Amino acid sequence: MADLWPGLFESSVDYISGQPTILWQTSFPRTVVILGSTGSIGRNVVKIILEHPETFTVLGLACATNVKLLAKQALRLRPSHLAVLTPAAREELKTLLPQNYQPEILVGTEGYTALASLKKVTTVVSAQSGAAGLSGTLAAAVNGKVLCLANKESLVLAGKLVRTLVRATNGVILPIDSEHHALFQCLAGRSSEPEKLLLTASGGPFVGKKWDELKDVTPEEALKHPNWQMGKKITIDSATMMNKGLEIIEACHLFGVKLSQIEVLIHPQSIVHSMVRFKDGSFLAQMGVADMKMPIASCLFWPEMAANVVGPLNFTAGLNLTFTQAKMSDFPCLALAREALALGTQQCVVLNAANEVAVELFLAGKIPFTAIPKLIAYGLETYAKHEQDFDTFDEGASVGSDVPNLLKFVADNFQIIEHIDQETRRWVRDAHGEF
Ligand code: MG
Repeated sequence: MADLWPGLFESSVDYISGQPTILWQTSFPRTVVILGSTGSIGRNVVKIILEHPETFTVLGLACATNVKLLAKQALRLRPSHLAVLTPAAREELKTLLPQNYQPEILVGTEGYTALASLKKVTTVVSAQSGAAGLSGTLAAAVNGKVLCLANKESLVLAGKLVRTLVRATNGVILPIDSEHHALFQCLAGRSSEPEKLLLTASGGPFVGKKWDELKDVTPEEALKHPNWQMGKKITIDSATMMNKGLEIIEACHLFGVKLSQIEVLIHPQSIVHSMVRFKDGSFLAQMGVADMKMPIASCLFWPEMAANVVGPLNFTAGLNLTFTQAKMSDFPCLALAREALALGTQQCVVLNAANEVAVELFLAGKIPFTAIPKLIAYGLETYAKHEQDFDTFDEGASVGSDVPNLLKFVADNFQIIEHIDQETRRWVRDAHGEF
């Protein structure tokens, strides 16, 4: 099989992991665990897998609390292991499964990490929402799995740590996030020198409006994304452009590039999923209808391709593609994400935690839309005042590939991330009434 990875190790790009082994590439059915199977991404993963029963065997499914849907998925796929967030969810799940099917049901973070570590599993889909997805990603990385990564927060919170782990264990990362998947496809297998990665952004439902005009936006208005069907949290992130901010950080860690090598273009049609500019001045763009099934199927089948995953683009029906530069002054969340990335990993943890709490508060009707970046800025300012109270990371340590050592290394770093994450959430919740 041809080397598919050269373009991902150009001098200006240093992709986070090596490529999957020939054994993985040629062994079917692929044994899969889906973390976050009841979410928007997870449901699409299940759909694709059900359409290709000879290609995949699902050994584990995990969700937070949507046990009704989890039970339905489990009855179709019959995995040996399930995981849910709470003991109460486990009890409810038990009542939904028949006598003749009794999988092992695990609980909480330990449950998710146990599923991602199962010996027989070669492929882990990390599709939980938010910071909660980090532990599953780390477990998959420690165990050298092929990780189909939809949870961008894993790289926002611990990009360097994940890089160290997958390099130590020969783990592999295939990106599901549509923009990063587009860049990955444009780069893989090429030998030309890439110069810039151009991330496209739809701009969300308020594209063309000034930030100051958005003060009275309601959650219902912000949840109406024009192009993509997604979960609530990421849809609000799209409306504030924080999603693109997180994706800049994700892209820096994934492709090993500097902030200056990334540009954001507002492209309201969401047809070009992202582009690479090469040194000769040429561009490669990846295009298609806006449907997450495309990057998901591409990762699951990599390096092959499934047939007819999404419908064709109709180029002759007035397809009109427009692009404008995303100005920092127009999008305070984009500016905050760049600032956090320039400051360091700790600040990226603060950025993400403050944003998660601010989005919850906005959805609950407790703060105005435009308070979201103000609360994030408050989180970063508060962290700057208390920085000396927190331990610092040891992300790039030479850790070898011994699993017990790696687990300790991960646990130490995870503890620091959790500490910063929890404290930030507390600061933001306590202060939100002032915003
Ligand atoms: Mg995306």
